[in-house]
Amino acid sequence: MSWSIVTDTNEDLVNQLQDCHAVENEIVAKAMKETDRKFYCKLKNPYVDQPDSIGEDAIISAPHMHAYALENLVEVIKPFSKILDVGCGSGYLTSCFARIIEAKAQEKNVPPSGRVYGIDNSAELVKLSIENIKKDEPHFFTEGRIKIVQGDGRKGLMECAPFDVIYCGAASKEIPTELIRQLNIGGRLLCPVGEKGNVQKMEQYDRLNYKDVARKVLTNVMFVSLTD
Ligand code: SAH
Repeated sequence: MSWSIVTDTNEDLVNQLQDCHAVENEIVAKAMKETDRKFYCKLKNPYVDQPDSIGEDAIISAPHMHAYALENLVEVIKPFSKILDVGCGSGYLTSCFARIIEAKAQEKNVPPSGRVYGIDNSAELVKLSIENIKKDEPHFFTEGRIKIVQGDGRKGLMECAPFDVIYCGAASKEIPTELIRQLNIGGRLLCPVGEKGNVQKMEQYDRLNYKDVARKVLTNVMFVSLTD
């Protein structure tokens, strides 16, 4: 039997993801409820658990995949975290990260001094993510909480490194050494690794200290590849 979640509102979509335990963390649930998928996807009904084309051979991931990324990263996000969203595409996760920083700041009663950098190599998708995020929450730009740049995300964003969190929304053919190099101590990278068409693995890298990084293979996934 196969089934998928289809709902009428963003809140209900996240409620259902909670019901089936794809979302367990309250801060992730809050961030996803506040980040209305209608701003990021062109589907007639955006409140379905499906990926969708956003043009330029790119895809907005299904909500359960976004939830999976956020659930695995939320514990390392702090009010002051610097986050790099590689292959930001629709901009959906970029906004969720900014909202998680905000929630962590509220929890600790400190200002949300962190910043999320979205990087995409497609000029069209850089434009799209900026437009989408502006429709959702223009303050993210006016308050300097999100910055979107065009560039080759395989090289990270050296001028803003080190990062406390790096998420890669497209698969790397090999171990993403440059992204690992730009991780702060205590920082975490989540990146799908493997060739398109082969089994790709979602891998997690935690920087333990200046020299050592712990690698954990999480699950099989299917992502578009990082391209030239
Ligand atoms: N997290 C995004 C995923 C978009 S699909 C979302 O859910 O909306 C993958 C994205 O990776 C595309 O936007 C594509 O343009 C981008 N991409 C591919 N190769 C890249 C590279 N070398 N550097 C930066 N972005 C890249």
